[in-house]
Amino acid sequence: MFATLSDRLTSTFKNLRAKGRLSEADIDATIREIRRALLDADVAVPVVRQFTGAVRERALSSEVSGALNPAQQVVKVVNDELVAILGGQTRVLAFAKQPPTVIMLAGLQGAGKTTLAGKLALWLREQGHTPLLVAADLQRPNAVTQLQVVGERAGVPVHAPHPGNQGADDVLPAGADPVAVARAGLETARQKQYDVVIVDTAGRLGVDAELMAQASDIRDAVDPDEVLFVVDAMIGQDAVTTAQAFADGVGFTGVVLSKLDGDARGGAALSIASVTGRPIMFASTGEKLTDFEVFHPDRMASRILDMGDVLTLIEQAEKAFDAEQAEKMAGKLVAGEDFTLEDFLVQMQQLKNMGSIKKMFGMLPGMGQMREALENFDEREVDRIEAIIRSMTPGERQNPKIINGSRRARIARGSGTTTSEINQLLERFDGAKKMMRQMAKGGGMPGGMPSMG
Ligand code: GDP
Repeated sequence: MFATLSDRLTSTFKNLRAKGRLSEADIDATIREIRRALLDADVAVPVVRQFTGAVRERALSSEVSGALNPAQQVVKVVNDELVAILGGQTRVLAFAKQPPTVIMLAGLQGAGKTTLAGKLALWLREQGHTPLLVAADLQRPNAVTQLQVVGERAGVPVHAPHPGNQGADDVLPAGADPVAVARAGLETARQKQYDVVIVDTAGRLGVDAELMAQASDIRDAVDPDEVLFVVDAMIGQDAVTTAQAFADGVGFTGVVLSKLDGDARGGAALSIASVTGRPIMFASTGEKLTDFEVFHPDRMASRILDMGDVLTLIEQAEKAFDAEQAEKMAGKLVAGEDFTLEDFLVQMQQLKNMGSIKKMFGMLPGMGQMREALENFDEREVDRIEAIIRSMTPGERQNPKIINGSRRARIARGSGTTTSEINQLLERFDGAKKMMRQMAKGGGMPGGMPSMG
């Protein structure tokens, strides 16, 4: 995801970090590199101009020159401005006060609407909603069947025109009217008390007036709470022009970036929030129904800058962390010493002092793949972990490999937990240890935590 852009930006910062004080020339050179990286990634020209202008102004201000670590501060400025062009705050779905909530999908053919419909339906279902998918894409004969397939996979019912009437020859029932289908779908949802209706609409290969008119008619018929414009992030600059056309022709309340798993010219998608003034709400990142995520501008920015959300982490850590302890830990890791359960416990306690563990862990670089596990993290878990580690002997804490079946049973008794919880902790610790080792190998935290660099 944005790998090329990410590489370019991080290498720019690496050069910058090699310097202590930053001259105006250093900053200008950095801005030039950032500009080139953004343009090469297909970020729209006006957005690049606005972005680099804002970064330059802040980079030349006392905010940066007066900072303890100016290079790090420039990264923070770039991060802030990136969040801003990505839309600032995370925007969540607006649910209707009176269900059903109606979500209409719009976009070009092949953008990934039907796939997204299934992903969104599954995601909503997992959150306890009862969605209904409505097949109002009658342009492509296959689209109805395709929606039925994704609906089945997502375990979500599909309202389709003349059920059972899509023959093997893919001929739609004559006179099937997408507006009528959408309306009937909504009616079904009301009667059967589905609380969210997702209306899949037709796309065309290119923007045309007829398509816009049809989408507008459906919109008027179902009065959606959200119109989500789905756009293929890989189509480069066309993503922006298409977004603009849909904004003018149909209007939308939010954007879904699809195919973010590819990298080719994905940067254009980064301009969409800025150009249309509409937030990016979701990202589609693959063909599987679970390849879907809520779009958080701040997290995306830090992912692009390949630093987790280290900046916030630094700010909070500076307040709560014991700097001496952190130094010691970093030194130990760099020296190749092992990360022990004792260290794990100390970290957990420090994190606890800082507030939400979930949030803190999520901010660490390299934690991208663990985000899902984090979402399910129960904050009380820390107390259990603490109890378990405290029930271990110093030898066990130092070398958990010696913890066999009978030791497990003893620790479980001592901590009031179960052996399976002990196993879970040991597994999790193993994962953390591997990560620590990787970080140490990489010469500390990517993004260069000042106190550890
Ligand atoms: P629609 O015409 O807008 O309904 O688009 P589809 O949902 O039919 O998607 C078009 C093609 O893109 C299909 O082959 C999908 O499997 C594929 N696709 C959709 N979303 C993604 C995604 O996030 N990543 C990848 N790699 N492929 C996707």
